[in-house]
Amino acid sequence: MKKLPSSEFARLGTRTRLALAGRDPSDSYGFVNPPIVRGSTVIYPNTEDFLARKARYTYGTHGNPTLDALEAAANTIEGGAGVVVTPSGLLACTLPFLAFLSAGDHVLVTDSVYRPTRNFCDSFLKRMGVEVSYYDPLVGADIAKLFQPNTKAVWTEAPGSQTFEMQDIPAIAKAAAARGILTMMDNTWATPLYFDSHAFGVDISVQAGTKYYAGHSDVLIGTISARTPELYKTLRKAWEELGVIVAPEDAFLTLRGMRTMAIRLKEQMPAGIEMAKWLQARPEIARVLHPALPEDPGHALWKRDFTGASSLFAFEFAPVSMKAVAAMLDGLTLFGMGASWGGYESLVLPFDCRAYRTATTPDYKGPTVRIHIGLENLEDLKADLEAGFARLKAAS
Ligand SMILES: *Cc1c(COP(=O)(O)O)cnc(C)c1O
Repeated sequence: MKKLPSSEFARLGTRTRLALAGRDPSDSYGFVNPPIVRGSTVIYPNTEDFLARKARYTYGTHGNPTLDALEAAANTIEGGAGVVVTPSGLLACTLPFLAFLSAGDHVLVTDSVYRPTRNFCDSFLKRMGVEVSYYDPLVGADIAKLFQPNTKAVWTEAPGSQTFEMQDIPAIAKAAAARGILTMMDNTWATPLYFDSHAFGVDISVQAGTKYYAGHSDVLIGTISARTPELYKTLRKAWEELGVIVAPEDAFLTLRGMRTMAIRLKEQMPAGIEMAKWLQARPEIARVLHPALPEDPGHALWKRDFTGASSLFAFEFAPVSMKAVAAMLDGLTLFGMGASWGGYESLVLPFDCRAYRTATTPDYKGPTVRIHIGLENLEDLKADLEAGFARLKAAS
């Protein structure tokens, strides 16, 4: 196995790059995978080298070979200038704010943002003296009307957490770039495989690697990709100064997950869409929130900018009591009820975004449920839900 020059590597297909990235058997005693390198201290050969910090690795908090391997794999699909890895997806969301904003700055955050990111903005960020405003996720190019002289960044997420509104990312990024404002995006839903965020102008692209990268619900991790070398330098500096380091076992597990990620998504995307259509046809369901469905208000944007969909979406019941919904959900045998997603297993959870949104309030007829489709047989999942609908009816 000869090492390819980087120009030839870059020309390979995504799946080939995901199979090759971050490993070099000549550096791993001949084994296929990179080793899990644990360590704080790096030993230098002499005083001169120590004083100049002349070494491939200088100290545990500045990186290690296992982390490098994961960064390389993430970077090859993000297509930016460089990636840093964080110990959770949430930290991947919060670190860009810490790296790029200062007291007195203003940031625009989509109202459909992942709720813990909102919590960080409302408490931590405000305490740091950063002004935060939430905006309608459907704003598009009109985002320019919300810019203030001190606006430094726009935070986007498409589709929105739980509510699945699509955002016009290129329109927002274009308006922001014209004013020297950074566009940041939580791209966890589509992953870089289905939305090439940097190509659409996103400067800082975040991934909760906990989801489809790791893919097995056994690790918490995040990645942040910077579009340009200058942005990467600032991001990397904040990462080092804060001491954000990831356990090598977590990096290894995530890298292992990424090897099969394209294949898992290739299965989960059609399974999700088929389930969405099946639910859409049910009389108990008022609406399915999934941008890959032609009836979805975000479908045109999704079709224009995205090359695929993951298997997470939501649905809105026709008016029914929460007690009946609980009867349906509590008796499910294949779907677990819990947060997170992107693993091999199917999940459901009830949510009510109206409790915390501030810029816009989606209007739902009945209770809302988020659903994640894993790798199980779709017929089994449908039968589980079918029995659930019978319980819903009995309890209504
Ligand atoms: C889960 C999630 C995160 C956070 O990831 P954790 O690893 O659970 O902290 C961030 N953004 C989105 C959209 C998510 O769904």
